[in-house]
Amino acid sequence: MDALTSGPLYQNTMKIVRDAGKLINLSPNSFERLYYPRRAIVVNVPVKMDDGTLKVFTGYRVQHNQMLGPFKGGIRYHQNVDLSEVAALSALMTFKNSLLNLPLGGAKGGVAVDPTKLSKTETEILTRRFTSEIAGFIGPDKDIPAPDVGTDSQTMAWMLDTYSNDVGFSNTGVVTGKPVEIGGSLGREAATGLGVIYTTQKALEVTGRKLSDCKMAIQGFGKVGMHAAIEGYALGAKVVAVSDVSGAIHHERGINIADLVRYVKENKVVKGFPDASAIQPDELLELDVDVLAPCALEAVITGENASRVRAKIIVEGANGPTTRDADEILTSRGVIICPDILANGGGVVVSYFEWVQDIVWLFWSEEEVRNKLREIMFKAFDKVYGFSKQNGVNMRTAAMAVSLSRLERAMVLRGAAW
Ligand code: NAD
Repeated sequence: MDALTSGPLYQNTMKIVRDAGKLINLSPNSFERLYYPRRAIVVNVPVKMDDGTLKVFTGYRVQHNQMLGPFKGGIRYHQNVDLSEVAALSALMTFKNSLLNLPLGGAKGGVAVDPTKLSKTETEILTRRFTSEIAGFIGPDKDIPAPDVGTDSQTMAWMLDTYSNDVGFSNTGVVTGKPVEIGGSLGREAATGLGVIYTTQKALEVTGRKLSDCKMAIQGFGKVGMHAAIEGYALGAKVVAVSDVSGAIHHERGINIADLVRYVKENKVVKGFPDASAIQPDELLELDVDVLAPCALEAVITGENASRVRAKIIVEGANGPTTRDADEILTSRGVIICPDILANGGGVVVSYFEWVQDIVWLFWSEEEVRNKLREIMFKAFDKVYGFSKQNGVNMRTAAMAVSLSRLERAMVLRGAAW
């Protein structure tokens, strides 16, 4: 089990569980149960490359906890994916789904591969074979994958098709985040970024501010960061800086996000956008802004740079972007950190909506999806903020405490902990 639990993100997450557990008198039995993932599946995936060679990529699916419902969590394609990272992300899914009051457990998957180095055909072969390898462990009632870093709706379409072929009939509920034409939900693509903006709105509101008079910097311009920028810009926020793997850009008066989206569609990356200046990627984290939204990878705000972060509010679009020592430095300076399990929950909320729509074959309008999402995000924020004020703890500890209360109640009722 060490390979699962020994990584820094896993240990960091369990430290938060321990701290929050004390506030709600979490029993040692419940802690023990939550500490260990239920199971981990490790597979080696052979791919016939375009040049005729064969390459093997290692894939993982870790299923952490299913006390509240079927396992649910994304699939990541990235060269740094390893078992302990996937395990940590699976535990975060358990806590996120509980916090958002969804009837779902927590899981995560990934393949250690740089997807930018694969052709479309190679990506399809990899996805189909990975899906076959884990097919016995996933399904609409068992475990429902979704996109994450390096995967998208096309990846989900291939997963759906492969799984359906394996079981012998079309089974759209096996994945979420798929194209609307084959059972996806309207509003899913924007959901995580929109959830980041709903959380930002609430965090600004409790500090007496409005989105329309704030400056934001967003790290990452993928599925989360781009939509956070689009939604924030649409509501009047000044998005002064964004970045992606190619570099960072800045405009003190605000970047025209509609133009930037068009530019990225053509050029794939933000680098070279004509109406902004290039800055060093690390500089983005330290700009004088009201809100910083890290929406790329983990551990980007660290003990080394935390004291230079000038944002008053951090909204964690990514999973685990703030390390433990950074958290302590920022909390002691009064920075409000809206933690990942709250701030990036919009994606899984709309994934849940998609799963429900696939079960009943009745599809909702985009407006309905967005309104329902807002209601859930606002309610979760209020609960977490209320707990944090009542108990004098930061938002991260409060979010975990709220999540653990529901999880422990479910475990006790099921006789799974006592
Ligand atoms: P993505 O692959 O669509 O986008 C990732 C973005 O980060 C890209 O723009 C990439 O260029 C950029 N990036 C990579 N390395 C970078 C670096 N060093 N500096 C700056 N930018 C860099 O992935 P995503 O789905 O947007 O996921 C981003 C984060 O959000 C991850 O932590 C993921 O787990 C989390 N998340 C995603 C969802 C979802 O619905 N997609 C839901 C919840 C949480």
